[in-house]
Amino acid sequence: MTHPFLDLAPLGAAQFASIEDRVARLLRTEQDVVIMQGEALLPLEGAIRGTAGPGTTALNVITGPYGQTFGNWLRDCGATVIDLAVPFHTAVTAGQIAAAFEEHPAIDFVSLVHAEAATGNTNPVAEIAEVVRRQGALFYLDAVASVGAEPVLPDAWGVDLCVIGAQKAMGGPAGVSAVSVSERAWARMAANPAAPRRSYLSLLDWKERWIDGGRSALLHAPAQLEMLALEACVERIEADGLETVMTRHRAAAAATRAGARALGGGLEPYVHANHEAAPVATTLRALSGAVASDLVALALNQDPTLPLAAGGGALAAEMIRVNHYGVDATRGAVQASLAALGAALTGRGLAVDTAAALRAAEEAFDRTVNARGTDA
Ligand SMILES: *Cc1c(COP(=O)(O)O)cnc(C)c1O
Repeated sequence: MTHPFLDLAPLGAAQFASIEDRVARLLRTEQDVVIMQGEALLPLEGAIRGTAGPGTTALNVITGPYGQTFGNWLRDCGATVIDLAVPFHTAVTAGQIAAAFEEHPAIDFVSLVHAEAATGNTNPVAEIAEVVRRQGALFYLDAVASVGAEPVLPDAWGVDLCVIGAQKAMGGPAGVSAVSVSERAWARMAANPAAPRRSYLSLLDWKERWIDGGRSALLHAPAQLEMLALEACVERIEADGLETVMTRHRAAAAATRAGARALGGGLEPYVHANHEAAPVATTLRALSGAVASDLVALALNQDPTLPLAAGGGALAAEMIRVNHYGVDATRGAVQASLAALGAALTGRGLAVDTAAALRAAEEAFDRTVNARGTDA
């Protein structure tokens, strides 16, 4: 018997290249786009190990857990690392980046996470990119949680290494990812004796054996299922329109924030400023003594399909994540999440106004959708 996941025809080089081209179009980039056969941590690590070495002075911006990981890889490569950490309830500013360059003129590499699903903040990349470009540093961007939810424009911004994954706002598979690579970044890798070569982490292997060979022969059998799923999710975004998909995420975030404020019961948006809140996912702070992970557990007991999670690690006590991305970037997912959190808070003896929360969410969602086009 045939099975939808099994007995697939082999995925050839031409189709692989055409999926890369589609991803490049989604990113509006003329740079080389390399698709990698693994979760986004693969190109995230490969790009750092390819470009950083003992001669590198890296400014590593920490606005959540991923920034911490990047700093550790950079140090492992022998780079001098200047960590710039900001509280997780805010974003970093271009002014802070400029000040870091002033204090450390040797900085020649900047690593930044665009949006953090884990902390719910988003950073002003366009403004930061201007500073980085002026200084001539190589710019590495983790856009896994922003692509599909807000504009990601490596060429317009001058990002040298832009990593994306499909599993968040793109509504796609987790087991495949991509990175756009500028000419400067390729040159840095080629000149780096410690860059991975003949390795699964190697971007240079793909440059030399795939791109420079005219993309005619793959390095190994491609992960068919993931590649087909990636193609399907890009196709779906093209059909819906990227602008529409991004608007849905922005609307879901605005609705969640407005709904939480109206709900009461000690919930409030974790990220204070609206413009620093990521469209991909909204984090909430549980005050009034309720433990965030308990509230999430209660809500998921009612409905295990809700896009709710507690914050990771130490944040589990105080942070609720509403992961309204991909298929959950809808009015319905936001309202169901707010209603379930309202019930959980009531269960903990706290006073809430769920009807007001649902109304506020509805209004904010509509306002965002209707404002579309006027804010472009
Ligand atoms: C989700 C995410 C990733 C991918 O990591 P997972 O642990 O597989 O979810 C990478 N970077 C950022 C900023 C993310 O939000």
